[in-house]
Amino acid sequence: MLHHAGARPRTPGLGRRARVALAAGACVALATACGGTRSQAAASPTSGGLSVIYEAPARGGAAERDFLRDRRPAEKVAEDVGGAFRLPKPITIAGRSCEKGDVPEYDPETRRIALCYSYVAEVRAMFESAHDPDPAGRTAGVITETLYHEVAHALVDTLKLAPTGREEDVADQFAAYRLIPRGPEGRKAVLAAADNYAQYARESRPEDVELGAEHPPDATRAANYRCYLYGAARAEFSDGDAASDDDLIDGEVLTKERASVCEEEYGGLRRGWDGLLAPYRRG
Ligand SMILES: [Zn+2]
Repeated sequence: MLHHAGARPRTPGLGRRARVALAAGACVALATACGGTRSQAAASPTSGGLSVIYEAPARGGAAERDFLRDRRPAEKVAEDVGGAFRLPKPITIAGRSCEKGDVPEYDPETRRIALCYSYVAEVRAMFESAHDPDPAGRTAGVITETLYHEVAHALVDTLKLAPTGREEDVADQFAAYRLIPRGPEGRKAVLAAADNYAQYARESRPEDVELGAEHPPDATRAANYRCYLYGAARAEFSDGDAASDDDLIDGEVLTKERASVCEEEYGGLRRGWDGLLAPYRRG
């Protein structure tokens, strides 16, 4: 599967991370987008097979590049995944100015994850428009979750993993798999992603929701992330009081009925990713 953003402009009604699959030769035509020149590469911590670079921004984007360098979501993801697993092939996370309408993506031809500066700006603008009290922190959370999602595609590709579910669902589950056990910061990142998806869903026109698309609808992804958070809390506090996590059940994004199976769902995704990555785990 080619995880490559197409040139289709994103409209406000189109959900997050919608993609158009291009033919395998598309990188020839889109030489710049496919990792041609690198006008500026900052040396970043490299762990395992994951490294991080930042290309010089074009058409704006300097503030977003500086935000990424300051908050270091990409470096943290690279350190976590590279430190936990042996990765035989190099994978690069590249901060860059993408073509208009592009979204973060993994390109298996170059083994590069494009982290678009415009996407960072878009997510931050959404939190600001929703009067979120911590737009910077929540944006960093969404970017972290996005990167784990794209890294999952890179792992499936480079390790030739064989998940049996839809890869987009499995990639979201990988983000939950790595983030939720990391404590409050990781859980906040997952919740930020859930809330961001819910906002995209609210702002989408019903006719733009493609039930048969490669990605599940944004509302579904929001519900899934809340479900994983709730399920993890239930599992962790199964003999105690998980009342505070009942806030995750808002009756709209996450219903009580769905919540009743979330502990099982979370356990399933943990077993699934544990099994897929067992041969590559360090130590
Ligand atoms: Zn994906």
